[in-house]
Amino acid sequence: MTIKPLIILPDPLLRQVSTPVEQVDSQIIQLADDMLETMYDAPGIGLAAIQIGVARRMLVIDVSREDEENKPIVFINPEIVKTSDELSTYEEGCLSIPDYYAEVERPAALTVNYVDRTGKQQTLEADGLLATCLQHEIDHLNGVLFIDHISRLKRDMVIKKFTKIAKAKA
Ligand code: ZN
Repeated sequence: MTIKPLIILPDPLLRQVSTPVEQVDSQIIQLADDMLETMYDAPGIGLAAIQIGVARRMLVIDVSREDEENKPIVFINPEIVKTSDELSTYEEGCLSIPDYYAEVERPAALTVNYVDRTGKQQTLEADGLLATCLQHEIDHLNGVLFIDHISRLKRDMVIKKFTKIAKAKA
């Protein structure tokens, strides 16, 4: 397992739409392991493959509490098939937009179909933090960031700030 460098805003890779995984082979399992290692190191509760520069429809999530054992879940080709009418609001952050947090409203519960790391088709019903995290990460697979769900004014400010930081580092 390897910790990979994170792709940071405003890198255009974050706007790329990821392509489906055709087969769960050793390369894909290795990628999942690297993603988990990178997520735990950050630390974060979710990571999409594009955040380490790989445009495949894959994400990893672990919303277990600090005092619990790790409960990693690997989602390959995840697809939301149902969302609740009820909404919930969480303060979200993103490993690709470090140290910025904002409240985002999303469906409170959902059903997702996906392929697990053994190549098996699965269905999961999620609510609470897991439901929010899944929607945030699946957005990444479509080139969408959580700042796209906040006001335009706030979003422009964040992008401006990160563009400045990137320029200073270049
Ligand atoms: Zn994110």
